[in-house]
Amino acid sequence: MAKRILITGAAGFLGSHLCDRFIREGYSVIGMDNLITGDLKNIEHLIKEKNFEFHHHDITKFVHVAGDLDYILHFASPASPIDYLKIPIQTLKVGSFGTHHCLGLAKEKNARILIASTSEVYGDPLVHPQNEDYYGNVNTIGPRGVYDEAKRFQESITMAYHRFHGLETRIARIFNTYGPRMRLNDGRVIPAFIGQALRGEDLTVFGDGSQTRSFCFVDDQVEGIYRLLLSEYSNPVNIGNPDEITILDFAKEIIKLTGTDQKIIFQELPQDDPMQRQPDITRAKEILSWEPQVSRSEGMKITYEHFRSMSKEELDKREHKDFSAHIRR
Ligand code: UDP
Repeated sequence: MAKRILITGAAGFLGSHLCDRFIREGYSVIGMDNLITGDLKNIEHLIKEKNFEFHHHDITKFVHVAGDLDYILHFASPASPIDYLKIPIQTLKVGSFGTHHCLGLAKEKNARILIASTSEVYGDPLVHPQNEDYYGNVNTIGPRGVYDEAKRFQESITMAYHRFHGLETRIARIFNTYGPRMRLNDGRVIPAFIGQALRGEDLTVFGDGSQTRSFCFVDDQVEGIYRLLLSEYSNPVNIGNPDEITILDFAKEIIKLTGTDQKIIFQELPQDDPMQRQPDITRAKEILSWEPQVSRSEGMKITYEHFRSMSKEELDKREHKDFSAHIRR
């Protein structure tokens, strides 16, 4: 009998790639999503698979899944700063209530659960690179706090279920990840810059561009998560690519990659934007025998091709996603 896995956030960027991977590995996959930030287009190719089923459900509400479950991957959450600034309460709820529901379901089914945590638990880090023993530097009441604190709570409640109920839990601290199926208008730096280059617009660097990020290609990320789920390790593990670059240099790389001659313009740095970020992946190397295989130049070529194949109409959909139907005041 195929192992059965529930993936929340299945119609999102990472969730959909994880569905692909687990289907390929012969699992029976239940994809769940409320489609606020996710898009059915990301999983439409899976609908014909006999081992895939989709449940349209909001995990912040009580969840029931009939039958056995072996694993749960909790990946539902807005994940771009613009999204979680626009739907802050939903962001807090999916990290807290949503995680609580997933953990309760895992306990009920005696399933192993992996939760998608984030480098944002380190906030604007004072330690560099960030290893898993660093407690972080988060402004709880700042606009980004809704995501950061939801994820920190998520880690705490997950460890509580592990210690108190003996649940098998895994925590992946995911650093900036990119690749095909990112939402063009989600405001994150890679789709933002590529979209601007393709439309012939100036590239918007926030601040002076000296802040750093370290970008991991999605296939590497999925491999790290896959290995962590199947490992016997329950403390958090950083999964990311340590190849660090300033945002200004990255903008220059995009101009080169796209062969455009766009200008770079500088805009105000968002509040609490971390000034540096680079994963220390010593733990992942030791425990998972994992490290990224795809260089930024290879990964960015694949990603650029993905966006380049979009229609002009899709590219021109400049506005950010309209969440008004999900906002109750
Ligand atoms: N950024 C930028 N221009 C943009 C979008 C983002 O300079 O049009 C910067 C942003 O301020 C941050 C970095 O790029 O320093 C990465 O931002 P992103 O939203 O991708 O993710 P974050 O790592 O901040 O969660």
